[in-house]
Amino acid sequence: MARVFNFSAGPAVLPEEVLKKAAQELVEYGDTGMSVMEMSHRSTAFQSIIDDAESLLRDLMGIPDNYHVLFLQGGASLQFAMIPVNLMGKSGKCDFIHTGAWTKKALAEAKGIGTVNVLGSSEDKNYSYIPKTTTDQISKDAAYYYICSNNTIYGTRHNTLPDTGSVPIVADMSSNILSEEIDVSKYGLIFAGAQKNIGPAGVTIVIIRDDLSDKAPEDTPTMLKYSTHIKNKSMFNTPPTYGIYIAKLVFQWLKDNGGLKAIAKTNREKAGLIYDFLDKSSLFSGTTSPEDRSLMNIPFVTGSEELDKKFISLAQAEGLVNLKGHRSVGGMRASIYNAMPLEGVKALVAFMEKFQNQNS
Ligand code: PMP
Repeated sequence: MARVFNFSAGPAVLPEEVLKKAAQELVEYGDTGMSVMEMSHRSTAFQSIIDDAESLLRDLMGIPDNYHVLFLQGGASLQFAMIPVNLMGKSGKCDFIHTGAWTKKALAEAKGIGTVNVLGSSEDKNYSYIPKTTTDQISKDAAYYYICSNNTIYGTRHNTLPDTGSVPIVADMSSNILSEEIDVSKYGLIFAGAQKNIGPAGVTIVIIRDDLSDKAPEDTPTMLKYSTHIKNKSMFNTPPTYGIYIAKLVFQWLKDNGGLKAIAKTNREKAGLIYDFLDKSSLFSGTTSPEDRSLMNIPFVTGSEELDKKFISLAQAEGLVNLKGHRSVGGMRASIYNAMPLEGVKALVAFMEKFQNQNS
């Protein structure tokens, strides 16, 4: 069967070139005579894979020298706990912008450690927008200010950051990391599960500013301290070696294709095609507030559950798969991460148009 256009929210589509390169190297990597999967994480061959992955990521994102890059496990969800455990510190307080299911889970973990001030929430409208915050709302003594920069389920994203002064911004970038250029120096900590724009599930990337790296209480379990992983360069224990190798190939693919400036241009073009169609459509509509629209995840509905179901199943038959929306929003969701080709989005829009003509 030919490859489909996979609109999955995650684990998600990977660049075909990366999969092919990995297939070529699957059994024997370079002159090692073994697969990356079979290699010691302490071997020189693997050391150069993880070093390359880190330096490519630093290069792509322009990560300053006073930030550490970690390749961890436990998914983005473990970061929901590691962040408050490590950063809450003496202040015992943090500020949150609550924008959906992922901030809800992060909030629950932070509440177990200290006081959480929710500065804004979009729960009143099923998280279809990003609540605005102003600088004067930010608690001066908060240990950090927490956002989920792109809300995978609802299709919203933070387009701007408030001036938080000396309060570090912590961002869950699981579903939009590497989708466009950002100024890393505006953040104290960035984290992302790999399974959307980075590689296969199993790797979690943490980018943490040096002054935040050693704040965990003494009695914190070793594996939960950022300082453990920093001191051991992500090799305190066996890291997810194969996932890191694929991440390295994805970073190389991004670099070879013009880096984040180029991918952002394509991402804006892809998202623009869908939003322009939705804005004009007589059948489909988007579910998020226009100024907060995500470039990565686009939920949309017909207004009829029956038509939504029909759309999803006919789309699937055309090779446009995984378009079912999350149960909390309903309808459809097109996740169009970096590796979704422009042709995939064009095929989706053409199919939406055809479906609209036949069903309205
Ligand atoms: N944050 C965001 C924005 C997500 O989209 C997800 C999962 N898709 C998570 C956190 C949880 O990630 P994980 O399953 O890696 O723990």
